[in-house]
Amino acid sequence: MSSSVSSTDLFARAQRLIPGGVNSPVRAFRSVGGAPFFTRSAQGATLTTADGRELIDFVCTWGPAIHGHNHPRIREAITDALSRGTSFGTPNPYEVEMAELIASFFPSIEKVRMCSSGTEATMSAIRLARGFTGRDKIIKFAGCYHGHSDSLLVSAGSGALTHGHPDSAGVPAAFARETVVLPFNDPAALDAAFAANPGQIAAVILEPYIGNVGFIRAEPGYLAQVRALTQKHGAVLIFDEVMTGFRLARGGVQELENIVPDLTCLGKIIGGGLPVGAFGGRAEIMDKLAPLGPVYQAGTLSGNPLAMAAGIAQLRLLDELRPYARLDTLGRQLCAAALAAAKLKGIALQAPQCGSMFSLFFTERPVRDLPSAMSSDSALFKRFFHACLERGVYLPPSAYEAWFLSSAHEGDAIDRACDVVTTAISEL
Ligand SMILES: *Cc1c(COP(=O)(O)O)cnc(C)c1O
Repeated sequence: MSSSVSSTDLFARAQRLIPGGVNSPVRAFRSVGGAPFFTRSAQGATLTTADGRELIDFVCTWGPAIHGHNHPRIREAITDALSRGTSFGTPNPYEVEMAELIASFFPSIEKVRMCSSGTEATMSAIRLARGFTGRDKIIKFAGCYHGHSDSLLVSAGSGALTHGHPDSAGVPAAFARETVVLPFNDPAALDAAFAANPGQIAAVILEPYIGNVGFIRAEPGYLAQVRALTQKHGAVLIFDEVMTGFRLARGGVQELENIVPDLTCLGKIIGGGLPVGAFGGRAEIMDKLAPLGPVYQAGTLSGNPLAMAAGIAQLRLLDELRPYARLDTLGRQLCAAALAAAKLKGIALQAPQCGSMFSLFFTERPVRDLPSAMSSDSALFKRFFHACLERGVYLPPSAYEAWFLSSAHEGDAIDRACDVVTTAISEL
């Protein structure tokens, strides 16, 4: 591609043929205004735009790039796999190695099935839970995003929230009725929902720490209560760790909180930047999947050798580098800089953070659920976003998305970002 093609020209061409000019809505910058930039290449913590600008990137391709962009080890793994062919349509050795790695990181996963996106993982886990229990209803939580399948696109976070359509057009009301939506961090609401739907709840699905209304932690004891209630009522507990898996700890939030869910959904990091999802858990449940059992699930490119090779390299690097304590330091550093600047300026700011994920909410209310997240000042966020972007720092283009750190942010990038965030807040 010619390096002289500007983002403006590309976006004009894209809008003629691609709805909104993008292949995933949040990329269109609708919630912050202005036009998106196009990225020509990415390296370490830096994106280079089609216009030749270099930006420090805190989106990290929405989570996967935990070692920074274009890591040589991952590139080598893909190149090596590529020399053997791009897809076989038969089982391949990489899939076995990947399954063994996932099981070693996540003790709750006795068996695992690979697919090609997080959406497929959650959709399939829900079907499996329904097939296993013989029940139809599911419980989800307001603001949790589990991809874009019908029964999960009800009161969803992420792009669905930013665009003001938490309930998508095109989802039949009859499907939505099978989904009970509850407030997060509210064990009494979950208890009441089980009482109101006796013997009908197949599964409870949640992001154990939410990353899709911005970042929100579960309050102490909450996840243990969710585990106890699901056990008591015979519902399958599904942790959607597509975002948090391998990111907040080697074994995700379930490791941090010492909870054993029945099923876990994975994606993002396990693909090493290629399209991958996975779901796994108790063997007794997983064995209901075809070809062993009656629950059908399949994928032409599932277990794709290039994606498996990239993911295996990524997970092996996590084991070698053990970046979690260092990532947490970076997260604390950036949040502390933002909080100090806000205090000086007299602006209310909440900065929930864990490891390499955090969010900046411009609100006085501690953020613990969807309504408190929505209380943040989105007009102020817009100005903050553009003030940072002008100064070379790219953060998620929505007030309701988490920032992501990578080990490539260590050193110069984090110092520069702290300066930019401080200046941007001081000038709000
Ligand atoms: C990103 C995400 C998904 C959807 O994954 P895709 O690969 O975009 O389909 C599902 N659940 C959570 C928690 C996510 O963050």
